[in-house]
Amino acid sequence: MESDSPTSVRTTCPYCGVGCGVLATREESGVIGIAGDPHHPANFGRLCSKGSALGETVDLEGRLLEPRIEGEPASWDTALDLVAGRFAETIREHGPDSVAFYVSGQLLTEDYYVANKLMKGFIGSANIDTNSRLCMSSSVAGHRRAFGSDTVPGTYEDLELADLIVLTGSNLAWCHPVLYQRIAAAKARRPHMRIVLIDPRRTMTADIADMHLKIKPDGDTALFVGLLGYLAAQGAVDRTYLDRYTSGFDAALAIAKNHDLRSISARTGLSPEELREFFALVTRTERCVTIYSQGVNQSTSGTDKVNAIINCHLATGRIGRPGMGPFSVTGQPNAMGGREVGGLANMLASHMHLEDEDHRQLVQEFWASPTIACRPGLKAVDLFDAVREGKVKALWIMATNPVDSMPEADLIVEALKACPFVVVSDINAVTDTTRHAHVLLPAAAWGEKDGTVTNSERRISRQRPFLPLPGEAKPDWWMVTQVARRMGFATSFAYENPSQIFAEHAALSGTGNRGGRDFDISAHAAISGEGYNALQPFQWPQERGKSASEQRFFADGDFYTPDRRARLVAVHPANDEASDPRYPFVLNTGRVRDHWHTMTRTGKSARLSSHFAEPFAEIHPLDAAELGIGDATLVRLANDHGAIIVRALLTDRQARGNVFVPMHWTGQFASKARVDTLVTANLDPVSGQPALKMANVAVRSFQAR
Ligand code: SF4
Repeated sequence: MESDSPTSVRTTCPYCGVGCGVLATREESGVIGIAGDPHHPANFGRLCSKGSALGETVDLEGRLLEPRIEGEPASWDTALDLVAGRFAETIREHGPDSVAFYVSGQLLTEDYYVANKLMKGFIGSANIDTNSRLCMSSSVAGHRRAFGSDTVPGTYEDLELADLIVLTGSNLAWCHPVLYQRIAAAKARRPHMRIVLIDPRRTMTADIADMHLKIKPDGDTALFVGLLGYLAAQGAVDRTYLDRYTSGFDAALAIAKNHDLRSISARTGLSPEELREFFALVTRTERCVTIYSQGVNQSTSGTDKVNAIINCHLATGRIGRPGMGPFSVTGQPNAMGGREVGGLANMLASHMHLEDEDHRQLVQEFWASPTIACRPGLKAVDLFDAVREGKVKALWIMATNPVDSMPEADLIVEALKACPFVVVSDINAVTDTTRHAHVLLPAAAWGEKDGTVTNSERRISRQRPFLPLPGEAKPDWWMVTQVARRMGFATSFAYENPSQIFAEHAALSGTGNRGGRDFDISAHAAISGEGYNALQPFQWPQERGKSASEQRFFADGDFYTPDRRARLVAVHPANDEASDPRYPFVLNTGRVRDHWHTMTRTGKSARLSSHFAEPFAEIHPLDAAELGIGDATLVRLANDHGAIIVRALLTDRQARGNVFVPMHWTGQFASKARVDTLVTANLDPVSGQPALKMANVAVRSFQAR
């Protein structure tokens, strides 16, 4: 084990996409000591409340410790034989697209790699999608439209070097706290630094903002279209960069010219004075980073929002240079690693493109596989629809809880009940999803797992074990490998440890002509077990024969499109949706500071649970007064999909007509608080990402009988 002392292990936090380095120490008493890794470039020793409480979440209470079939304990051999047999039989009878994997940004890259390899290269279907579809697929789609590749151009250092940080759709203070801390510290060192928060709510992130623009939900595209027009009108575009390295500026600008300040004001809910002030600040500040997250991605126009932001950076040439660029921050610890191995239904391994015949051939030859999926598989929402409709007849859910996290969550229950064969691998014995499994497989948890993750700045770090595997728990890569062997693919899944998988992943990234591909870590293609154990955090790309990472992309163009030019995308501001008088409130969902996803781990910490002990709905006091709702009384939120009952939290941080409910509380913790039951499965047409930030609901006081 790579460690700082004989008893401390250097690993990575399993929560958000900041990817902080952690030093974990197992005391003789069994207590787990947690400290920030002072040498890790993501956090330099910092940790947030969730990270610092990790030691309180690793006990075995509630853990699934043995395989189960129909609720009864079974041996691994029996369970694996059953899974492999039922998948093989289903494929034989109904074809490869009758089976699916639904995986997770909690998986390590090695887990993701083998699951993707089995489904796309050996089963021959692309029906593998991930819960990362719910958090960042619009950013992936936006990157690919603009750059020809899913490339995050900048680094965390840029957030400290910028003179202006624009935060849109991102409550960084609570959702990526260590990045927030880094920016706050940089602002203290560099007082001229300006921060603009664009968010309908005055979140805690507003505390370091110099300007808070309370934009209407889904007003982002209009705002950045307006900014593009303003930059052009002021002569602030970089003609040299545009001419040398981009295409599409004129078409994008033509749309912007159709929207004057009054039109942008109407679509964003911001006054012309606010718009002018913001536009002028961006115009005069060259070192500008725009950070965006779920408030941008989780929308029916998420991909357009991403491209509207990127357009402004391309038009000014503010990309790939210190302190400049568009910056998507990911929600999950390994959403980026999943993207690298092609763990989405429309991607191939190593950032290769499923729709590209040369890429498919290259991957198939490298894997020496009997087949390769040749068309995109089902994205998350469509995948569960297909399960419900009986088209997918065998489903393996790995490390995620879709019954609570998917939109119209009650339909997911219907789907799982209708599915003839459901396998769930998880660390917990009971979640709202495990209840519906025919086969449960006990997975290794953080502290036991061994592999790599990639954070939002393309930095690959090791997760190292410091606890023994409890009971019969096994790593996810091992389970997939065992099933693959039983399906007849023993030679191609002969891995004995995760370092072999990582080496293969690295080797694949360096194969063939790399035209059109940004991801390359082939410097690690021959990594040994010792080398893997000692692997230090590094940013990709790291090509064979080159020791230093290329820290930033695109300062000198060289994009991954066929003509090597970036594309400015002609995006139109979203139209206001017609409101339904029955459901006059806009429901926004998101995270709180101290909980993670469906609380299966953070719910174990009394310290973390004391921040918010129960679910709540943030409502503006004037709206509450009109509805006769008092602070801390119960309220009922309802629409055509269902109803939830939570406590009212009256705050003028909330905009009028809007209501915010955290996403963490599940049927396990509070049966009437599963907020995703209220979210309609409206999708971004490009990315397939659901609009989890916007549902229409009625709000009223709830009187218990
Ligand atoms: Fe973990 Fe994110 Fe907190 Fe860092 S900021 S300690 S990665 S939850």
